[in-house]
Amino acid sequence: MSPELYSGSVVVLGSSGSVGTQSLDVAERSGTAVEAISGFGNTKLLEEQIRRFRVRRCAVGSDTAYADLRARCRDTDTEFYLGEDGICEMLSACSSKTVINAISGKAGLVPTLAAVSRGGRLALANKESLVIAGKHVMKSAGEHGTEIIPVDSEHCAIFQCLKAGRREEVKKLILTASGGAFYGRTRQELDEVTAADALKHPTWNMGRRITIDSATLMNKGFEVIEACWLFGVEEKDIDVVIQRESMIHSMVCFRDNSVIAQLALPDMRLCIQYAVTYPDRLPGIAGEPDFYSIPQITFGRPDDSAFPCLGLARSAFRAGGVRTAVLNAADEVAVSLFVEGKISFNGIPELVSRALGSCPDIADPSVNDLIAADSWAREFTSSLA
Ligand code: MG
Repeated sequence: MSPELYSGSVVVLGSSGSVGTQSLDVAERSGTAVEAISGFGNTKLLEEQIRRFRVRRCAVGSDTAYADLRARCRDTDTEFYLGEDGICEMLSACSSKTVINAISGKAGLVPTLAAVSRGGRLALANKESLVIAGKHVMKSAGEHGTEIIPVDSEHCAIFQCLKAGRREEVKKLILTASGGAFYGRTRQELDEVTAADALKHPTWNMGRRITIDSATLMNKGFEVIEACWLFGVEEKDIDVVIQRESMIHSMVCFRDNSVIAQLALPDMRLCIQYAVTYPDRLPGIAGEPDFYSIPQITFGRPDDSAFPCLGLARSAFRAGGVRTAVLNAADEVAVSLFVEGKISFNGIPELVSRALGSCPDIADPSVNDLIAADSWAREFTSSLA
C-alpha cells in the first residue's frame, strides 16, 4: 500500500445506487469521512450527498449532469470530473485508502482497474469487473499490493469462513442462492412470467438488473466466476445450494468435511462495513438474528433445466477467452429486453446462449479485446430481438 493513503475516509463509486447509498449510510454511522463519490446522472441525489458529507470530489457520467451538478453546487468547493476518464483522474487525486466500487454493470470495470492500480483497498461490489476481466484485475491487484475485499454477500461470507482453516485445507466453496422470484417453477411456467413478477424478490432489496439476474440464476453464475478469481478456487470446486431464507450467506467445506457457514440478517450494510473495517469488526449495523423466530433453514438443489443461466456461466468460464465478457454483455441486453416486454423470461438464456455460440475465439484476451467483445455482444444480442 502506498504510504500516503489514509484510512479515515473512503471513496464511494456509484454512490446513487442501492449499494452506494447503503455505503454512505455505513460511512455516516461509523464516522468515516467520504472523500469522493461518483454517479451517473441523478444530480439531485448527488448534490444532497455532496452537502451531507462535504464531499471534496465528484465524478458524473454525462455532460448534462456535469453542467447541472456544477451549477447546483457552485457555492461548494467540490471538484467535478466527467465520465470514465474523470473517475480515473479523480481516483489518482484521492488519498483515501479504501475505494468502494458500487457501480453496476460493465461501467464498473475501468474504475476497478484504476482502483487496483493505486494500492490500498478495493471494497468490491461490482462483480462484473471480475466476470469480464478477472485475470487482469487480480494480476494488477497483486502487482500493486492492493487488497480486494468482497462486498457481495456470498463472497463476504466465504472471506470470513476461510479464516477457519488454511488455504490448502479448503475442499470446496458452497455458494448459497435465494433461488429468486421463480424458485420451484417449471420451464413451461416460466414462459408466462413478467418483469413485474421477477422484481418481487423474496429477501434482498436490490437493483433492477440484479433482481432479474437472481430470478434467472445468472447472478449466481456470475458469483461462481467471481469466487474463482477472488479465492483462487477451481470452478468445479464451487457448489451452489438454494438457501431460501437467505440466512446462510455461504459456506466453506474443509478437507476434513467440516463445513463453516456465515449467518446474518440479509443486510448489505454488514458486508460493506466489514469490507471497510476489516480486520476489525464494529458494533452491529445490522440487527442480531433472532433464532427463536426463524422456523426453519432449508436447502435445495438448483434446477438446471428450468434455470440454464448458471450452467451457461460455468461453461463460459471454463471455455475462457472473451466468453465471460460476452456472457455479461449479452445478459445485460437480454435483461433489458425482458424488462421492456420484448422477449420472454426464457428468452434471456436463449439469447445469451446464441451470443456465446457466435462470439469470436480469442486466447488470452487483453482488456481492449474484452471491451471490444462486450460491444460486439451488445450489438449481436440486440439484433436478435
Ligand atoms: Mg450476491
